[in-house]
Amino acid sequence: MHLSWYLSTRSIFIELDHNLHKNKNQDLFLVILLNTINYLKFLSLMTLRFHRLDSRMLSHRYFAIFLVLSFQFLWIEADQTPQAVVTIPQSKWSKDGTPPIPERMEKHSEGKITSIVIHHTQSPNESPAMEFARLRGVQRYHIQDKEWGDIAYHFLIGASGRIYQGRDWNFQGDSGTQYDLNGRLLICVLGDFTRRMPEDPAMAALIRIVKAKLKEHDLKPEDVLTHRMVAATDCPGDTLQKWFDEKGREAISEK
Ligand SMILES: [Zn+2]
Repeated sequence: MHLSWYLSTRSIFIELDHNLHKNKNQDLFLVILLNTINYLKFLSLMTLRFHRLDSRMLSHRYFAIFLVLSFQFLWIEADQTPQAVVTIPQSKWSKDGTPPIPERMEKHSEGKITSIVIHHTQSPNESPAMEFARLRGVQRYHIQDKEWGDIAYHFLIGASGRIYQGRDWNFQGDSGTQYDLNGRLLICVLGDFTRRMPEDPAMAALIRIVKAKLKEHDLKPEDVLTHRMVAATDCPGDTLQKWFDEKGREAISEK
């Protein structure tokens, strides 16, 4: 049981966005290294406390306590690094969902991202517990009804503040409105923000992922737009748009 718990926490770190260390091996190496250092620190503290090395400290129970502690340290460190964005892969939220159809999608012609467009789903504002179901619903609607290759957006953000990977960003997104999708990274907040703002964790996540993607794709804050700035639509809702005009640019420009 301890082992599976350890593996599940470890997998979260492997999913740290590549921005943190540019490759997964380095992330994994860092996690193992920090875990080991923390365990040694824990053992030496306990040895000082009890004036001898108790063999019980090498037991599973102590190992589990140390894992919880080191996990928290790592989590805090990851959270405070602006470029470190934890995202949940589609394989997690769409386990029994509608599989994407790559033949229906087109790659960006230059093979790169040149701007970011912010959206909302305009679906009801729901509890975080509903996020997986909502994502699967949107994906099914986009693939089956709209006949697109996958969920239209590259990243989606829930009220929980969790960031979900949508469509593979190497492919252009899709839209029911007319605008050029080539080179655009579509980021969508789950919910309807016509009359209210997204929850605080969702806003923090939005700023975090936009800043990370600006850095990753070598873009400027001016390259961030909202859907209504490029097409005839109310998306991403009056309230979120107002925030973007008054505070958003500043928020995503901060170092
Ligand atoms: Zn939109």
